Amino acid sequence: MSNQVDINAVNLKSSDIGENDKLLKLFSYERGLVTAKIRGVKKAQAKLKYAQEPFCFGKYSLSEGKGGYYTVTGCEANDLFYNLRADLTSFTAAAVMAEYCLIFLDNSPPDTALFKLFTQCLTALCYSGISSQNILIYFIVKALRQGGNFGDFSRCSVCGKILDNYAASDLLEGGFVCRECNIKSIKPLPLAAYKTIKFLGSMEIDRLGTIRADTIDAETALKCLNAFVQNASGKSIKSIEKYIESMYQ
Ligand SMILES: [Zn+2]
Repeated sequence: MSNQVDINAVNLKSSDIGENDKLLKLFSYERGLVTAKIRGVKKAQAKLKYAQEPFCFGKYSLSEGKGGYYTVTGCEANDLFYNLRADLTSFTAAAVMAEYCLIFLDNSPPDTALFKLFTQCLTALCYSGISSQNILIYFIVKALRQGGNFGDFSRCSVCGKILDNYAASDLLEGGFVCRECNIKSIKPLPLAAYKTIKFLGSMEIDRLGTIRADTIDAETALKCLNAFVQNASGKSIKSIEKYIESMYQ
C-alpha cells in the first residue's frame, strides 16, 4: 500500500535516472524540499512531460512508497513560466534563485516564507518586465534576511550607525560595517554597489523597476551577496557566474 500526497511545489531541478525516468527536486509549500521520481517522461508521448520542466509550478500528486521514496503520479500545472525561456538572462536568474533554494533547503523544515518569495520573484521575472538583475539582488537580500543570515544592511553591524558614504562587507559580523568599525581593514565595497544592495533589498517588489543600476555595480553586488551565501551555508551559488556572463551579452 502506498500513501497519496498532494503538494504545491515548483520543480527546481531534474536529473536523469535510467533510460526514461527523472528525479525531481520539488520545492513545496507544505513539506519543504521533496525528491520524487517521475516515470517515463523522456518518451515523446509522455503525458506528464511538462511536470519535469524546470520551474513548473503546480499541484503535484505523489505516491509515497517504502522508505519514504516518492513517485509523481499527477501534476495540475499552475504556471510553467514558459516566457523565461525566451530570454537567457531571465532564465539564468531563475536558475540562480533555484540554486539558492537548493542550498538552503537541504534537510531543513518547510520554509513557507522562502517559498512565497521564490514564487513571487519567478512571477516578476517572467511577467513584470523589471530587469532580472534587480529582481535577483532583491531575492538574495530578502532570502538571506528572512533566513536570519544577514543583519540590517542599512546600518553598521557593529555600532548600528546608518551607513551612507562607506560600507565594508564583514562576513563575520554578518553585514556591513562603518569606517570606524572596520578594524580588519576590509576593502570597502564601491559605494554604488553597496547602494544597489541597500536600496533594492529594502524596496517593495513592485517598485524594483524604479532603480537603474549599472551592470558593473550589479555584478559587484551579486559577488558580495554570494560571499554572504557562502559564509552562511558553506556553499556558494555556482550559477551566479553564468548569470553575470549573460548580463554582458
Ligand atoms: Zn560602526
